[in-house]
This record gives sequence, structure tokens and C-alpha cells, in this order.
Amino acid sequence: MRLERFEFSQIRMGVDTPIVVYAPSESQAIEACRAAYSRISQLEQQMSDYRVDSELNTLCKEAVGRWRRVSRELFYVLWRAHRLAQQTDGAFDPTVGVLVRLWREARRTERLPDAQTLQEARVRAGYRLMELCPHRRAVRLRAEGMQLDLGGIAKGYACDHALRVLRRYGLTRALIQMGGDIVAGDPPTNAPAWRIALAEGGETTLVRGALSTSGSTEQFVEIGGVRYAHIIDPRTGLGLTQLILARARARDGITADSLATAAAVLGAAGIPRLQRHYKGVQIEVREG
Ligand code: ADP
Ligand code: MG
Repeated sequence: MRLERFEFSQIRMGVDTPIVVYAPSESQAIEACRAAYSRISQLEQQMSDYRVDSELNTLCKEAVGRWRRVSRELFYVLWRAHRLAQQTDGAFDPTVGVLVRLWREARRTERLPDAQTLQEARVRAGYRLMELCPHRRAVRLRAEGMQLDLGGIAKGYACDHALRVLRRYGLTRALIQMGGDIVAGDPPTNAPAWRIALAEGGETTLVRGALSTSGSTEQFVEIGGVRYAHIIDPRTGLGLTQLILARARARDGITADSLATAAAVLGAAGIPRLQRHYKGVQIEVREG
């Protein structure tokens, strides 16, 4: 069967989300991609911290001091995030939401939070304040005013699911990108792999796997000559100040996305530890 290449692009979770797919006809490509985008929208409604009425934000309001049952997808992503937090001693931490909000405010006002505001936020962050009960698929938060944030892991997970939807429609030669997170299925018809352009120049290839890039070079606010990136260093409560670019290659997007973010916080010194926990994952970090 002859396959043609089709490309679509929409915005999801606040970023450009292109899908490239090989399909027998345009109508089949459109139908499958529509379903894939709608799956991503569904996950966004579950996991976004921007949407006031997302499942995640509702959970933050309702789970303080009491168990709240959540959807299968949200529980899985929270569980993976929590496990990575344990493995990295909180370098990756899905409870940094309050600090992320302070960072967003700093970006808007170009001023750092004062010491007291920062301190008040820091006591409401920390993965040990989030308890998970796999048996009941429930979550409990131990402090008032906590904000969960899956910005470092949910896009990779959403790409995984979009690829699955396309496969269900019979389209296995596909590539999905959400910002710095890419997940690829089978390669294009005329090549052994997908070619991926890299932000710092050059290119690499990808086939049946995921590639995520994370770092301090794209989103930051400069205050007093210091650049604070949108990734929080849980040791300071502020954005990362060192220049860093981390890249992770894994079998699936949820792993690549979260490990790239973790590696950005841990730096090159953290690579062996991440690789001990995640066999077969390749991590590369450029510092300076
Ligand atoms: P991007 O969102 O730019 O693709 P990342 O995957 O690295 O990059 O995720 C960064 C996002 O992760 C931040 O915008 C924030 O929502 C969240 N985040 C910030 N600091 C941390 C951290 N230390 N651990 C986990 N998630 C974080
Ligand atoms: Mg990430």
C-alpha cells in the first residue's frame, strides 16, 4: 500500500504540537490525527496546572488532609513523578508548583520574591508532602495551599498516548512533538529513521523511541545580571541559574521527558544515578 506523508500542527499544553504521519489517504491521516489531538486535550484537562478546573487543580483543593481518588492516567503520572523524586532526592519534584508560580510572577515583575514569601512557598513544596495509595488510586496532601505541577513529565506522557491512538488507526509511521519532547513510531517510508534537528545545531535520528530536551536556555528571567530558568532548583526554591542543556533518550516519552528535567537539575554529576535507576536510557548533559 502506498503511503503519503502528512503534517499537522496544533497548540496543546501551551506548546506547538506537530504530528507527522504516513497514511494511505489524507482523510485517514486527518481522522487519526484528530483523535490523537483530542486524546492530548483530554490529558491536558487532567494534568494541566494552568486550567483552573483541571483534575490536577481540583485535587490540590480537595486532597489536603484527606484521600482523594483520581483517574488512572493522573495517578500513573503522579506515581512516576513521585518515584523519580524519591530516586533523585527531590531534584525532580512534582510538588514545586507554588515555587513555579513565584517564578512566573518574577518573570512578569522582573523581581525575585522576598525572603518571607519564598520561605512560605518552600514549606508548601516537597514530594514527601504528597502521599499516594496505589491500592485505592488515591492521593493525599499534607500541607494547605500546595500546588502540584506535572510540567516536567506530562508532555512526554501525552506524546506516548497520541502515538498509541495513531497506531490504533493503523498508522504506525508517525512522529509527535510537544515543545522539547518528541516521540517516534516506525520510520518514514523512505528512510531508516526520523531525522531530528537539534536546538544547538546539527541533527540526530530517532525511531520507535523518545527524545526529550530540557534546560535553562529557552525560558528564563534575568534579574540583577542573573538568569533564573523555568526549572526550579528545589535546593534554593528559585529557577536554575546555571546554563545547562539536558537530553534524554528512552523507550517512551514519559521517561525521556521526566529524566531530561531531572538531569537539568542534577547536572552531569547526576547521570550515573539516573542511569542506575533507568537501564537503557541515554542521558547527555552540556554545562556552561
Ligand atoms: P519544558 O516544559 O520547557 O518542556 P521541562 O520538561 O524541563 O521543560 O519541564 C519544565 C517544567 O517542569 C516547568 O515549567 C515546571 O512546570 C516543571 N518543573 C519546574 N521545576 C521542576 C522540578 N525541579 N521538578 C519537576 N518539575 C519541575
Ligand atoms: Mg521534562
